[in-house]
Amino acid sequence: MKSVLEGRPALQEVIDQIQEVTGYLWQKGWAERNGGNLTYNITEFVDEQMRALPPISGVLQIGKTLPNLKGCWFYCKGTGKRMRDLSKNAMEAGAIIRILDDCASYEIVADKCIMPTSELPSHLSLQDYIIGSGSSYKATLHTHPIELVAMSHIRKFCSGEVLTRTLWSMIPETLAFAPLGLGFIPFALPGTVQLADATLEQIGRYDVVLWEKHGTIAVGLDMMDAFDQTDVLNKAACIYKTALQFGPEPEGMSPESMAEIQTLFKLPKTRVL
Ligand SMILES: [Zn+2]
Repeated sequence: MKSVLEGRPALQEVIDQIQEVTGYLWQKGWAERNGGNLTYNITEFVDEQMRALPPISGVLQIGKTLPNLKGCWFYCKGTGKRMRDLSKNAMEAGAIIRILDDCASYEIVADKCIMPTSELPSHLSLQDYIIGSGSSYKATLHTHPIELVAMSHIRKFCSGEVLTRTLWSMIPETLAFAPLGLGFIPFALPGTVQLADATLEQIGRYDVVLWEKHGTIAVGLDMMDAFDQTDVLNKAACIYKTALQFGPEPEGMSPESMAEIQTLFKLPKTRVL
């Protein structure tokens, strides 16, 4: 069967980048088995021919009504699929869906009838928020960065404020590239409305949000951007861990040095949409 990517180089490019990123997730050890999930808003690449494609699934329920998603199309990782397989062929480990006019249901359109991630309600809620806030962000990424998850097992780090200050103080680049820092959400069961709502509440204020004893969720202009945001913060956690192995509590840059960097680089204090 012909792939929907054929003859659509711009869409192919997006899928290629998703494959590249999921390869990195596996290499970094952040994506064991079927761990992690992602979505990408591909609506801008959908032409008349694609719009006319018949569904290859029945009508499926999102579980929430998301009014900003009317007419939107997404690539979604498939439930139970591995990131390392997705990195080789995204259309064998995920599918393209379109949201129906009731904004509460969707159909799978291409290439294969692969059911989306069980975290679809959380990811689509974020996509709904992104569109509603007038943002040009397209990607949502949930993964299990080892050092950040490990920090969430230590009580003193279970605060967005403490985590952000600690990570920012490791190298100037963390402050420069993750100027909003890392949010923190106390443990909640995966896939619940409670976790989705808490994430929504924090993603507007932080670059990335850490779910206690679980993983991160990031939004990005594209999938590489969402990955970079997560990677920058996890790198700082790696430096903290390494410094700790050399001696007592790592010193970190002083609050004065960090304030100077914020001023020098005119770093934003709120998300630039
Ligand atoms: Zn997870």
